[in-house]
Amino acid sequence: MLIASTAGSWQQQLSDVITDPDELLRTLNLDASQLSVSAQVLKQFPLRVPRSFAARMQAGNPSDPLLLQVLPSDKEGDDTPGFDFDPLSESDFNPQPGILHKYHGRVLALVAPHCAVHCRYCFRRHFPYEENTPGRQAWEQSLEWLAGQPEIHEVIYSGGDPLAASDKYLAWLTNRISEIPHIGRLRIHTRTPVMIPARVNDELLAWLSDCRLQKVMVIHVNHANEIDAEVTEALQNLRRAGVTLLNQSVLLKGVNDSAAALIDLSERLMDAQVMPYYLHVLDRVQGVAHFDVSETYALQLMAELKEKLPGYLVPRLVREVPGASSKTGLQ
Ligand SMILES: *Cc1c(COP(=O)(O)O)cnc(C)c1O
Ligand code: SF4
Repeated sequence: MLIASTAGSWQQQLSDVITDPDELLRTLNLDASQLSVSAQVLKQFPLRVPRSFAARMQAGNPSDPLLLQVLPSDKEGDDTPGFDFDPLSESDFNPQPGILHKYHGRVLALVAPHCAVHCRYCFRRHFPYEENTPGRQAWEQSLEWLAGQPEIHEVIYSGGDPLAASDKYLAWLTNRISEIPHIGRLRIHTRTPVMIPARVNDELLAWLSDCRLQKVMVIHVNHANEIDAEVTEALQNLRRAGVTLLNQSVLLKGVNDSAAALIDLSERLMDAQVMPYYLHVLDRVQGVAHFDVSETYALQLMAELKEKLPGYLVPRLVREVPGASSKTGLQ
């Protein structure tokens, strides 16, 4: 099967994504007529799939674990009790433009409003990114605030996806942050190196290598099939630039809710020299209930992982509890 070329700069790949569900299904030799997805669902959270990611899906398989993460479903329109619009109450922890401060010693900096991909289970699907991603001017105010918070040692770039932003902007912001003496670490939460491995280019590697801060990147992979040779090479280049690599996943029905899938994922991550970090149970946001895995079953899976994997390949199963001062462990 031939999928459109994934060549081109990362910026081209970021703009030339698949947005039409019919096109996505056709490239996978799947019957588009079986898909029923309302215009309402697509309008609320449009389809967005980088071609490089689509190329890793298995043609002819309607249950492909990569496809299920991005394919819209009419179930997203269901009104499920217990599933909210801002389940983490993030709007309550927004002290400065672009800053979320919930956890001791660390702040989240919202540096880019967009993502390369739209993951259907995303807990931020209703978050007002656009209002919360400052330009340089507004950052001046937030940088000043940060300089006056000596107990903060780590800045976490988040979004959206921070690596959807340009290297010029990221290099500028990172440089300004590194001028604040009490900041020692920069963490980047991103799915882009997995979605569009070409994002890990010389410019990115240059500002990362040059930066005095300790660097941690938390990538987001849910299934072993997401990691191919190109992704592995991008990750290797990040490691060479001095970046420690961790992974977080979300436990998703139909995607990775089996011990075999999770074990395979941990092994594949380790092959790419990425340490498993968190396995999140789903945040209960409206429109994602069809991905939900019960907590009892999640704990059963963890028991099996602990039995079969070395301890360092077992991720921590966590839930986000609104108002809690850290993620809440479930084991
Ligand atoms: C997860 C998260 C962090 C970082 O938590 P760690 O436990 O340090 O990985 C920080 N801020 C927010 C808002 C988060 O959701
Ligand atoms: S990359 Fe992360 S923030 Fe973006 S849609 Fe996917 S889960 Fe949500």
